[in-house]
Amino acid sequence: MTYFESEFSIGETVFVAGTRREQLEGECGFCAGTGDNVGKDGKDRACPECRMRSGVVKLDEWHLEPYIQGPLTVGRIEVMFYGESDDRNYERYMCDETGVGSGTVWGGGIGQTLHRTSEQAHRAARRMCSA
Ligand SMILES: [Zn+2]
Repeated sequence: MTYFESEFSIGETVFVAGTRREQLEGECGFCAGTGDNVGKDGKDRACPECRMRSGVVKLDEWHLEPYIQGPLTVGRIEVMFYGESDDRNYERYMCDETGVGSGTVWGGGIGQTLHRTSEQAHRAARRMCSA
């Protein structure tokens, strides 16, 4: 009989570290960042490019932002265990705050990791952004 010990236990508090893609913003080229569109008659209309965003447009550039969620309480553990030191092994967690049964699955190599403290989670998220 093989026993598997998960990293976190039911009822334990965890913090999720991950990354989020953020779209960069920049000055609107059409109105040069003023948000105005003045016609030859002097009438002022909202800029057709940035509309109500007053001179700011979304650029076609993205960057990674650290993403932290928690504290969360472990409510379900899903373990896939193929054997000692097998690369396919994983643990995934569902938490009371984000839904157990149907809800968000955390960990298990799907873009984020779980940690015991928010400090550890912040460090891990920043590392993911610079990787
Ligand atoms: Zn504009």
